[in-house]
Amino acid sequence: MYKSVVVGTGPSGLTAAIYLARANLSPLVIEGPEPGGQLTTTTEVENFPGFPEGIMGPELMDNMRKQAERFGAEFKTGWVNSVELTNRPFKLQVEGLGEVETETLIISTGASARLLGITNEKENIGRGVSTCATCDGFFFRGKKIVVVGGGDSAMEEANFLTRFASEVRLVHRRDELRASKIMQDRARGNEKVKWALNNTPLEVVAGEKGVTGLKVKNNTTGEEEIIETDGIFVAIGHTPNTKFLGGQIDTDEQGYIIVKPGTQQTNIPGVFACGDVQDTKYRQAITAAGSGCAAALEAEKFLEGHIVHDWSQTL
Ligand code: NAP
Repeated sequence: MYKSVVVGTGPSGLTAAIYLARANLSPLVIEGPEPGGQLTTTTEVENFPGFPEGIMGPELMDNMRKQAERFGAEFKTGWVNSVELTNRPFKLQVEGLGEVETETLIISTGASARLLGITNEKENIGRGVSTCATCDGFFFRGKKIVVVGGGDSAMEEANFLTRFASEVRLVHRRDELRASKIMQDRARGNEKVKWALNNTPLEVVAGEKGVTGLKVKNNTTGEEEIIETDGIFVAIGHTPNTKFLGGQIDTDEQGYIIVKPGTQQTNIPGVFACGDVQDTKYRQAITAAGSGCAAALEAEKFLEGHIVHDWSQTL
């Protein structure tokens, strides 16, 4: 039986773990098959405050993990298959660990950027294929970039990337964009943004040094073509990792956890959410870390007022 369990080990979960551990709550942190979250798939992180020369994503996450361990957070590897949240203590069925009981639960399972699923895409993440313009745009100064997608994210990323790139080509599978009019207008008004509408991406073309092109099929003519580019930013949406909650926590229609405004509380008292699993807006490591801190402080407050277990018997 734990006082607090954190599921997920990105910046939000690890920050929550640091705060819970420093409050003497000895949290259990359950890490999945990709510990460290999305930052471990990026290279250099240049916008996390405190690192003027930048820091490699995996190193930053490793540091946060060590910091949490130093104060007594316990880490275990497992996959949470399901949860039972109707009564406290909450029960988690964890593959590899069995049943875990806890008084409070912090969900920090993040969101996964959707990929196109085309040949050579996964293999070239970090070698020219990216899902985060804010993270990686800076590395494409004066270069040609392709952005894939027709929603607001694609428009926003395309506009943002024109700060660095010599040209940004927007590739979308239909001739109609899904993005809001204002976002479309902004992209259309940007001279550096070129368009390849009605084109379905088929394959990432890459050499020894990384990406060199994107093979597409024109859906009107059926012709295939390789668009030369140094980078491919896939902006076709994110999927929040909330399936294991089995609908017990309120989410929006896309599956993102809804927290009470100004807090990290979910609809179930004692269950908190932080990081990208509840953030459709910022999705930054630093905002995730901030929400992890808030979730831990709220869990601590909750435990102060809701002790249903005599801890003196177990400590
Ligand atoms: P989205 O609105 O779901 O758009 C995803 C785009 O990717 C669609 O154009 C879709 O094409 C395309 N796509 C999906 N799967 C694909 C595939 N396998 N191959 C090729 N193309 C594919 O996602 P989003 O742009 O990330 O936006 C998510 C939400 O966040 C939206 O509600 C959006 O308004 C909001 N958002 C707002 C802002 C802002 O206001 N500043 C910025 C970013 C996001 P189809 O159109 O053909 O389906």
